[in-house]
Amino acid sequence: MDAYTGRVLHVDLGRRESHVEVLEPDFLQKYLGGVGLATRLLVDNAEPGCDPLGEENAIAIAVGALAGTMVPCSGKHALAAKSPLTGFIGDSLSSSYWSHTLRRAGYDAMVITGKAAEPTYVFVDNEYVLFRDAEALWGKESFATEEAIRAEIGDIRARVSCIGVAGEKLVRYACVSNDRGRQAGRTGVGAVWGSKNLKAIAVRGTQPVAVADLEGLNELSLDLGERAQGLPTAKYRVMGTVGNVLTLNRLGLLPTRNFRNSVFESAEEISGEYMQSHFKEKAVACSGCPIACEQVVRVREGPYEGARVSVDYETLYALGPCCGIGDFPGIIKAAELCDRYGLDTMSTGVTIAWAMECYEEGIFTASDTDGLELNFGNHEASVALIERIALREGIGDLLAQGSKRASEQVGQGSEKFAMQSKGLELPGYEPRGLKTYALGLAVGTRGACHNRSLAYEPDMKGQVDRLKAEKGRGQIAREYEDLAAVLDSLMFCKFIRGCFNDFHEEAVEFYRLATGLDLTVEELKQVGERVCNLKKYFNIREGWSKEDDWLPARILGEPLPDGSGQGTTLAPEELRLMIDDYYEARGWTEDGQIPPEKIAELGLEDLTQKARQ
Ligand code: SF4
Repeated sequence: MDAYTGRVLHVDLGRRESHVEVLEPDFLQKYLGGVGLATRLLVDNAEPGCDPLGEENAIAIAVGALAGTMVPCSGKHALAAKSPLTGFIGDSLSSSYWSHTLRRAGYDAMVITGKAAEPTYVFVDNEYVLFRDAEALWGKESFATEEAIRAEIGDIRARVSCIGVAGEKLVRYACVSNDRGRQAGRTGVGAVWGSKNLKAIAVRGTQPVAVADLEGLNELSLDLGERAQGLPTAKYRVMGTVGNVLTLNRLGLLPTRNFRNSVFESAEEISGEYMQSHFKEKAVACSGCPIACEQVVRVREGPYEGARVSVDYETLYALGPCCGIGDFPGIIKAAELCDRYGLDTMSTGVTIAWAMECYEEGIFTASDTDGLELNFGNHEASVALIERIALREGIGDLLAQGSKRASEQVGQGSEKFAMQSKGLELPGYEPRGLKTYALGLAVGTRGACHNRSLAYEPDMKGQVDRLKAEKGRGQIAREYEDLAAVLDSLMFCKFIRGCFNDFHEEAVEFYRLATGLDLTVEELKQVGERVCNLKKYFNIREGWSKEDDWLPARILGEPLPDGSGQGTTLAPEELRLMIDDYYEARGWTEDGQIPPEKIAELGLEDLTQKARQ
């Protein structure tokens, strides 16, 4: 077996001990790597029913099957933990040099358990694991932490993954950052690191990664790399995902003012085109990526002069239109603060939008908001709130819980406009105008997530009537979820998926050339199904019930107020019909439980046993 190392590094922070677990090829082939492997390791190592912020939670980190090789856009890693935001599976992806370096250090994955007595960072130096004092780093921003640790190690090849202040303060949507600007953003994994007094994991990996067929892999990689410079990625290379703003606005799908509107009057001023001419500094790429979708922007004048960050569509939507903010410099400043403090930009923006609606509805007055006037559009208030959230000061302490918990605490009907599912705040596409996508959000195991379901694709491409909720969407949503799980386990960046001639056929070829292991297309597809079922298994174990698969009251109770889909609704019975259809397509019971025969079909009978060595 090549590419894989077959080794998982277990780190017990409480005992300050580590050991290596050996994984057999069959086991690796069953989960591939990335999200699949991280989920399995989480299932095996987190205590069932644990407090997400307690010592019994585990953090599993796994690189993709192809990390460390020359395959384009495959340098990614997945983090999994029980989420403090949702109470269910929290899986989040990041990319770039840290991912490759962990493999070059000799590991496919890491599992972190226990809790350090004092702030600690773990330094994985190839074979050696060192526990280092992080007292002096506690309180430092993400970027400064990376720099300080790399300086201490004194080797530029060392890569650092770390939390900012928000993770230390246990903000439930704190992220984990690496390589100065890449984040495992969603579901609050950063707070789990903070709860374990884990400030950072530094890795130095200097070992070569062997592949089974170097010449063949090189040839196919070059070919894919060339295709990745073609038409399917042209938009991403020029404007990144921010290039989607005007299209979504034109279609009436740009969530605005906490989903009260779906058309934003200031869309032009926050568009990719406007960004390019006014703020773009350069495009940068993750390690081994020929696309370079990341757009680094800088504010050149005005009150936010000097603010600099890389933005994508989701960040822009959440901190911009969702809060009614059309001031691009204000959005850049807010995004920069999120990155520095280590906050998920999406949950931050949507939670602030909820607070703004509370203020506009008179549920909050200035005495509740530390004197801030939280009207929609007030970018100064948004910037001020982000600091309070990260430091958990004043109203920030409430908002650090996320919109679900905050709205349950405040009550007064504010739960109806907390735009979340399972506690995870919604992405930037209007679900009432994209019905298959709406189903994907409702049933998503990590909560409302477009990336884990990809079900917006048939809606957006016109393969189905996007405004119609009907039977048949269950099978479509299932297939797209399985595809996403395969991408996230092989760990191809999703932006390159459109460059494959036939994704599954080419993916098994990449896998064979890299690892020397044969995998059929059918087996690959079954990995996707297995991983989706494994995540669901974890959620059921942690108390999931059918009621958790649902969408916010606003989506199910109010017609779309504007845009091309004006007047469109998504009635509760329509969503129920699609969810029942989805459970059937998955082979689950009417209550969404996984029957024993499905567990057996997917080779997951050993879930309750520790069958591995
Ligand atoms: S397309 Fe963007 S996110 Fe994907 S690997 Fe390249 S730079 Fe990273």
